[in-house]
Amino acid sequence: MTERRSRIAVDMDDVIAHTIDRFAEIYRKNHQIELNEKILYGKEIREVLPPELKHTVSTYVNEPGFFRHITVMPGSQKVLRELTGRYDVYIVSAAMEFKNSLIDKFEWLQEHFPFIPWTNIIFCGHKIVDVDIIIDDRIRNFVGFGGRKLLYSSSHNMLVEGYERVNNWQEIADRLL
Ligand SMILES: [Mg+2]
Repeated sequence: MTERRSRIAVDMDDVIAHTIDRFAEIYRKNHQIELNEKILYGKEIREVLPPELKHTVSTYVNEPGFFRHITVMPGSQKVLRELTGRYDVYIVSAAMEFKNSLIDKFEWLQEHFPFIPWTNIIFCGHKIVDVDIIIDDRIRNFVGFGGRKLLYSSSHNMLVEGYERVNNWQEIADRLL
């Protein structure tokens, strides 16, 4: 029997895509509100917005184009490419939550991660996937998963404890390569 390579599921938002930066840019430009790591420490964006603006988070993420114009998380392209040499790498994103994100996310991946074939892109709801390692910034995506869980640090999860945490892509490289 040939042994299969280990599989890794990698999340998109706030793991390979710097989605918080996109929000920061929008709220700075449209509402003159500063969202930075210090303000967002341990909090969701919604929680730090004034009451009259809380609903705008879902408005923005549902707009076509929101997910097409996000900066790439530093180091993620290089390390992910290296990981593909050792592991079967899958991009697993709960994209079904936002129907307009589907094409945006696919095109974004084709532009920034062209070495990930379409066969290794999984847009889903719940992340019920047969992999060995999951890298994600949301612990809700670890529920029921028996493999190795790497919690990617993001301002909103900084107060979460009890998980193997990685703070950047270099740390992922150090642990997995
Ligand atoms: Mg995420």
